[in-house]
Amino acid sequence: MAEKKLRYHCTACGTPNDLDLEIPIAPELKQFEINCSNCQDLTHVLMTRCPKCQNSTQYLHSDLDFTQEILTLSGTYVDLIKGIKSSLSEYVKEFKVPVPKRWTVQLTCSCGEEYPAYIPLPSAED
Ligand SMILES: [Zn+2]
Ligand SMILES: [Zn+2]
Repeated sequence: MAEKKLRYHCTACGTPNDLDLEIPIAPELKQFEINCSNCQDLTHVLMTRCPKCQNSTQYLHSDLDFTQEILTLSGTYVDLIKGIKSSLSEYVKEFKVPVPKRWTVQLTCSCGEEYPAYIPLPSAED
């Protein structure tokens, strides 16, 4: 897994932070905590790289500890999905439901590749 230099601009004060992160290749999605060197703003960023060109980095920004949010909400989420699925069955032929084992997001790379990335939920591993 190659290290990738990344410049992240703080969403609070705009200061660029140079990061040395080991960003995994999709479908692996890794959460990083970033502390701004200027204002100490703590942010969580989910990152992955395109499996085709392995170059373009995709990231999802969240002020929340997103992985923890997912875990907390996953029980409610499963119930919600069931309701959404049945309410959409008239309009959507195939509705992919993220199973409790992982949380999935669909990404599109600048190279044109569309790929999924996911967070495995810890309860499914340990
Ligand atoms: Zn900052
Ligand atoms: Zn790509």
